[in-house]
Amino acid sequence: MPLCRWVAVAGVSGAALRPPGEKRLLVTERISKTFDRTRAVDNVSLAIPAGEFVGVIGRSGAGKSTLLRLINRLSDPNAGQVFWDGIEVTSLHGRKLRDWRRRCAMVFQQFNLVGRLDVLNNVLMGRLAYVPVWRSLPKLWSREDKLMAMAALDQFGLADFAAQRAETLSGGQQQRVAICRALVQEPDIVLADEPVASLDPENSRVVMEALRHINRHFGVTVICNLHSVELARDYCDRLVGMAAGRVVFDAAPSALTNTAARQLYGVDASRVTIADERRVAGTAARVATAS
Ligand code: ADP
Repeated sequence: MPLCRWVAVAGVSGAALRPPGEKRLLVTERISKTFDRTRAVDNVSLAIPAGEFVGVIGRSGAGKSTLLRLINRLSDPNAGQVFWDGIEVTSLHGRKLRDWRRRCAMVFQQFNLVGRLDVLNNVLMGRLAYVPVWRSLPKLWSREDKLMAMAALDQFGLADFAAQRAETLSGGQQQRVAICRALVQEPDIVLADEPVASLDPENSRVVMEALRHINRHFGVTVICNLHSVELARDYCDRLVGMAAGRVVFDAAPSALTNTAARQLYGVDASRVTIADERRVAGTAARVATAS
């Protein structure tokens, strides 16, 4: 369901709100990023259709976070380009760059909420790109913005916590508040950087369900860095495996064989648990070597 309809259900005219795009393609064209002598991202080309739920997997230091930051333009590549819907994102500046970042919401491992601020106002921070500074500083949010934020919280069973300080919530609840904040940005894409790395297994699944909800229900593309192969298999439509900055696997989760997973994780292979070997047989995977 597009966001505007969802807000209309909450009792507000959604005429001014844009639904997320349906046919918009995100393309990274041979992008690279080097820090000193480290090639964090090395010649990565990907095409991600709107509405896909992509898991980026690989061991620590493989380049997953840097890839997300290049897409969002929190960091600029040394070479290559990022396109979205035919627009070159890597050359945007000023207002157009701010608009891109609004369309491309981030969810972080450590939630990045303002702990002493109440939950509702944390979610409303996602509306900052839509309001003039004079209205956001004294928290003069419009009724529409407040209703949208409340509707977002309600989606994830958090409406009762709206007036509570964010720091009083559990980790899983705080991450879902962060997902609400991302959602009210009305993004086309959500980039989630290890969103469950600080959570216990049960809360990890609750947060992954929340990401799946915004993907399936609102059509938002989700690109999610994950350490857990099990979660990646269970929630993603497609897995992109990275090693030493390169894409070494790009296929459906069913194609990630035990061997491919171990290659991907290298010395971290002990962390890879394969629950059901039968699921991995028979599907073609493109596994390249990161030479
Ligand atoms: P991952 O998210 O897969 O753990 P990162 O993208 O964080 O990997 O890091 C990839 C490589 O780039 C690592 O070797 C890391 O140390 C290096 N790196 C990342 N960010 C910086 C930075 N700001 N300065 C220097 N090196 C960095």
